[in-house]
Amino acid sequence: MKIKFPLVVVGAQWGDEGKGKIIDILAEEADYVVRFNGGNNAGHTIVVASEKFPLSLLPSGILQGKKLLIAQGAVIDPAVLLKEIDFFEKRGTKVKLTIDPRVHIVMPYHKELDRATELWKGKKATGSLHLGIGYCYEDKNNRFGVRFEDLISPNLLREKIEMFFPLKKRQLELVFGQKTELTKDRIYQEYVSYGWKLKKYLGDVSKKVQELLNSPNSPRLHGAKKLLFEGAHGTYLDGVFGTYPFTTAVYTISGSVFPYVGVAPQKIYSLAVVKAYTTRVGNGPFPTELLNNLGDELRNKGGEFGTVSKRPRRCGWLDLPLLRTATRLSGFDYLVITKLDVLAKIPTLRVCTHYKIGAKKYYEVPSLMTEFEKCQPVYEEFKPWRRDISQIRNFSDLPIEARKYVMFIEKNLKVPVKYVFVGPERKQTIPL
Ligand code: GDP
Ligand code: MG
Repeated sequence: MKIKFPLVVVGAQWGDEGKGKIIDILAEEADYVVRFNGGNNAGHTIVVASEKFPLSLLPSGILQGKKLLIAQGAVIDPAVLLKEIDFFEKRGTKVKLTIDPRVHIVMPYHKELDRATELWKGKKATGSLHLGIGYCYEDKNNRFGVRFEDLISPNLLREKIEMFFPLKKRQLELVFGQKTELTKDRIYQEYVSYGWKLKKYLGDVSKKVQELLNSPNSPRLHGAKKLLFEGAHGTYLDGVFGTYPFTTAVYTISGSVFPYVGVAPQKIYSLAVVKAYTTRVGNGPFPTELLNNLGDELRNKGGEFGTVSKRPRRCGWLDLPLLRTATRLSGFDYLVITKLDVLAKIPTLRVCTHYKIGAKKYYEVPSLMTEFEKCQPVYEEFKPWRRDISQIRNFSDLPIEARKYVMFIEKNLKVPVKYVFVGPERKQTIPL
């Protein structure tokens, strides 16, 4: 059974599952790739012919030369976006990008407030990268934000900065006691130039996507235009259904694609990206975390260091309650299991089948975070495989132990596995 479009790709854990690589692969068949949530705190690394492409804002369809859309649910740091565009243009890649006017813009004071808040939270810090994304969403929700429409219109931009900055300055200096070098003029001068450069990308993404979905050439009718929606972050970084408050500020579950793009509810297939073990960056509960040599082994073998932050990722065993809950929340139609190669030659191999608090069993993530913090993982042992699998391209050539591991996940989640990844390169991919 082939993967159907329109398709939304969602990370099933705490992010860094390998969404960038699968989007790059699926984009070969897609016509449009739509980024609909998060900001440049979501990093992807795509590897093609040994060359690494770190991306944080441009949709991962860029390497396949596809049409790229940034929908209103995402937020843009213009300096970062321009840098990514510049990188590809210098290589001779034409960037076919459309940005919705409703997209919010990360401002310099968002970053300073982010840093100040994390300092104030001390040990209870969220683990934010100080990129200002959370504050940008706060202003969006408070109707105190600068949108793409404002950025590209100098008068509107000045007006907004004049209105917002004095309060931000007071907040930084009087609430947090942090002196700021920012001034209204400096912000305006910097941002107006970004506006000039980005203006040509303006377009109504909501309307365009709806038209593409409804057009006579719609994929649901004739299989002509194929839309791929690229989710940033993982399910447990969802600002509501994730491990709050150690999350991002956005929804990351599949249904969020409708309001974040601005299209009516309809069938959009959903694909989960599942890392063969579990990682997370930043703070917060993590029941299957390995705080021993095995955790270090996974981190080193898997290169588990942030794309954006370079921070070491916390590592642990695969956690089925997390995946079951993610499957319920996002209604996955397909699974991709990534980084199976990293588990090769590991001395022991375990999967958490459920949690326990005293005698009580939990097969899903409890809705109360106070309970989740107390959950003890219950493991099933698996036989590890002893040989490297990174050169294998057929499922039947994998060691029996690796096949059993994959099939166990498929059986438990009752969702078909469509690809297994055995390395970061495009070609290190096993279709099923
Ligand atoms: P994303 O945020 O979900 O897009 O994932 P990231 O790109 O941040 O992190 C995944 C990392 O794992 C990247 O460096 C990928 O190049 C790499 N990667 C993806 N799939 C595999 C795989 O199957 N095996 C190995 N060893 N690395 C992989
Ligand atoms: Mg990432």
